[in-house]
Amino acid sequence: MATNRTFTMLKPDAVKDGHIGAILEQITASGFRIVAMKLTQLTTADAKAFYAVHSERPFYGELVEYMTSGPIVAAILEKENAVEDFRTLIGATNPEEAAEGTIRKKYAKSIGENAIHGSDSDENAAIEGAFHFAGREQF
Ligand code: UDP
Ligand code: MG
Repeated sequence: MATNRTFTMLKPDAVKDGHIGAILEQITASGFRIVAMKLTQLTTADAKAFYAVHSERPFYGELVEYMTSGPIVAAILEKENAVEDFRTLIGATNPEEAAEGTIRKKYAKSIGENAIHGSDSDENAAIEGAFHFAGREQF
């Protein structure tokens, strides 16, 4: 069911810093099942489209540059109440405001380079998952 799924990206800083294994361990230990996953790199057009909702924000240019700066891990995750529970697991956008033990608290460098993405609604989870994965790549 789409309502039990969310979409994530381990962002370029987290991949570069060697945190893929630790972050995936925390995600699966928290009860999320991996439905789809790949190592990939966003093109500028990809990043602009993915973050189009932020196109008028002052940080949009930097965000696109950062998100295209290196490989990411994209994944679809499944769990009851997936979207909300995953946002809790990753913590606040700004790591300084993120709760202790959250993925962003542990691995994010700044509000921009914040280690991980999590969808903010069931609707966006479905859109973002479909952006990265064909139906036959989802298990
Ligand atoms: N971002 C940023 N500066 C800000 C707010 C956001 O660079 O002041 C970046 C950051 O990487 C964030 C992404 O833009 O994860 C998307 O912002 P959003 O407000 O959707 O935060 P999120 O949903 O990722 O917590
Ligand atoms: Mg968001």
